[in-house]
Amino acid sequence: MKIAFIGLGNMGGPMALNLHKAGHAVSAFDLSAAACESLRAQGVAIAASASAAVSGAEVVVSMLPASQHVESLYLGEGGLLAQIAPGTLVIDSSTIAAATSRKVAEAGAARGIAVIDAPVSGGTGGAIAGTLTFMVGGSEADLARARPVLEKMGANIFHAGGPGAGQTAKICNNMLLGILMIGTSEAIALGVANGLDPKVLSEIMRRSSGGNWALEKYNPLPGVMEAAPASKGYAGGFGTDLMLKDLGLAQENAMAVKASTPLGGLARSLYAAHSLAGHGALDFSSVIRMVQKAG
Ligand code: NAD
Repeated sequence: MKIAFIGLGNMGGPMALNLHKAGHAVSAFDLSAAACESLRAQGVAIAASASAAVSGAEVVVSMLPASQHVESLYLGEGGLLAQIAPGTLVIDSSTIAAATSRKVAEAGAARGIAVIDAPVSGGTGGAIAGTLTFMVGGSEADLARARPVLEKMGANIFHAGGPGAGQTAKICNNMLLGILMIGTSEAIALGVANGLDPKVLSEIMRRSSGGNWALEKYNPLPGVMEAAPASKGYAGGFGTDLMLKDLGLAQENAMAVKASTPLGGLARSLYAAHSLAGHGALDFSSVIRMVQKAG
């Protein structure tokens, strides 16, 4: 299958590589030359532009930072929806506002192009291993078309509902993730302040009622988990500013439906303060620095 892949960052890079390894003819593009080079070095064909990448593609996958990037890629001046052939399937895996996903899906439908929102969970580890969880918004029929492609990048594929529903599920999940990373950080910092060995404490909590994804796969304290971003200077992974964006989306949504999300609101403020302190580009688990003894 000829697949165009736009956005080769921390997530998109390994996802595009998995499609390439599965034998698909991937034509990839990113605005960052370094991101393109890294994929080219691994054998993926790099197109000269997004327009060139989608030419002749049966499926287009995008993995961009935020709503404005997706909107300008597909709907902006010279946007891709005006260039993609009718009948093409577009899978947008970026985490963006549900309203933007619906807007792109409607514009696509008007041109005979099926657009589904398929944001993911599982982190960069899941992207590399091809074990991501996809949360899909769109019709059953369009999901059935997307499934063989999604299966090469993920292990769990959920149909959340109609257009935009994948995004709503994703911000619920990430609001919980943002909160639990702060709670996990507080608990570890408290134990360390009392002289406990963080590895032992983390293992106790992992196997106890406090067990969670951060303790399983993404410990925020450097040196506890070799593969976690914390042990790599908080490089790569899921940026603090991306978490801040998702918590902002959750709060906007909560206001729209009059939901009460006090911890989600507090978590957004804490990540905002962490970003203002200069940590926006670091992995979000670096939020432990806010509650950790310095030095
Ligand atoms: P990233 O910043 O590492 O990568 C985004 C890439 O998009 C960059 O390389 C950038 O150059 C490229 N880009 C931006 N606009 C473009 C355009 N118009 N054309 C081509 N390329 C363009 O971000 P990421 O960590 O890969 O995250 C991507 C999305 O996935 C975000 O919405 C994020 O919230 C979500 N997400 C990330 C993780 C994670 O663990 N990193 C997990 C789940 C979901």
